[in-house]
Amino acid sequence: MIGRASILFAGFMAIAAAHGQATDVRTAAERDLFAKIVEIPTVEGRPAEFEKLTTLLTAEFRKAGINNVVVKDHDGTQTLIARWPAAKPSGMKPILLMAHMDVVEAKESDWKYPPFKFREEGGWYLGRGSNDNKAGLTGILLALQYLRAEGFAPTRDIIVLFTGDEETTGNGARRAATEWRSLIDAEFALNSDAGGGSVYPDGRVEAFGMQIAEKTYADYKLTATNRGGHSSAPRPDNAIYALANAITALERHRFPPMINDATRATYEALAAGDKGQYGELVKRFLADPKDRETADLLEAMDTGSTRTRCVATMVSGGHAPNALPQKAEANVNCRIFPGVKVDEIREQLQALSGPDVTVLAVEGSQTPETAPTPLRADITEAFKASVATRFKDAPVLPFQSAGATDGAFLRSNGIPVYGFGGLWGIVGQKEGAHGLDERVWAEGFHGQIPIWMEMLRRVAG
Ligand SMILES: [Zn+2]
Repeated sequence: MIGRASILFAGFMAIAAAHGQATDVRTAAERDLFAKIVEIPTVEGRPAEFEKLTTLLTAEFRKAGINNVVVKDHDGTQTLIARWPAAKPSGMKPILLMAHMDVVEAKESDWKYPPFKFREEGGWYLGRGSNDNKAGLTGILLALQYLRAEGFAPTRDIIVLFTGDEETTGNGARRAATEWRSLIDAEFALNSDAGGGSVYPDGRVEAFGMQIAEKTYADYKLTATNRGGHSSAPRPDNAIYALANAITALERHRFPPMINDATRATYEALAAGDKGQYGELVKRFLADPKDRETADLLEAMDTGSTRTRCVATMVSGGHAPNALPQKAEANVNCRIFPGVKVDEIREQLQALSGPDVTVLAVEGSQTPETAPTPLRADITEAFKASVATRFKDAPVLPFQSAGATDGAFLRSNGIPVYGFGGLWGIVGQKEGAHGLDERVWAEGFHGQIPIWMEMLRRVAG
């Protein structure tokens, strides 16, 4: 007995050691690929860096046998579109997987370490773009490579869209949704830039988020003009005063509260999880979303979720210290609730500003006006089941972003977009997206890959 047990035990140990080594090798390879991707500084205005990244990614797709890779050169950047054709076509439309290759500029002198040098510290991977959105991008690539290697036979085409200007103009997503539509047309898209989880330090899951709506971004220019004159003879009419009054009116103004599927889902989860005063407040808002007083209280705690918000962000005026101003201008930045038109907000700003100030929407500033993507039980269930391979019973929470992603360009052109990601971070730990010392939780980075694989088996298997 002893002999047999020890042989079994020895055998088990050998297998465990081999398995451990295989996992280590795999983890190291994933990390190395991620490091290479992070170390290419794909910042706006550096087309050669985008070329380096698309060359690397194309080679990685080809390595996995995905040979249909198109790289579009456009607007000073690049967009990569790859297609894995259905092995067992079911007649279903393709699905689209989204990420962006570009990153926000990073000033080396402000960072603790050089932003474009990949490093590992205390369980985190650091580097500009590590979080937004190169972890998601690398996760998609690795999941597809592993699925190919294990012989997965998709029942529909799987298309990948990696854009190169999400942080700036969104031209890649806009062109993809329109002029390159035949290359990316899909039943729906999963956007890695707008989904993922948060886990408490003790391992309990807070939630995995699924973005289904985005506010519209729009800038407005408020201009007051005046005939001016000598400042030794002031008059009641004054461009700076007129503009200041308009801005004060805006400061006091509150747009009417609104609710949709995305914010309702978020608030319902919050109400269920909070038995205190905050939970009570949320319940009151859910019972009557038009109740301004409740909405105002909520808005003060959780900015941007109950309505359109506008804020003065820049101001300039006058031309000399001793002259009455001939012109004063302000920029007002608005985050508009889905369903409200950019021009409706302009009209309201004009009404607030009075006749001495002209309000114009700044051309080219706005992201598309979009309606929330309708919730689909099958997709939410697939999301939950995929996350459950790692975190049992983790909630999946639909939400609305205050900012805009590439998803807006697809939604506004009729492709439903669901924020999806297996990546997770740690509740209360800063990740520095767009800011300093950007980082991603290493366990979340590696852990996302099997979650993506399971999702793809479920939606394309
Ligand atoms: Zn992003």
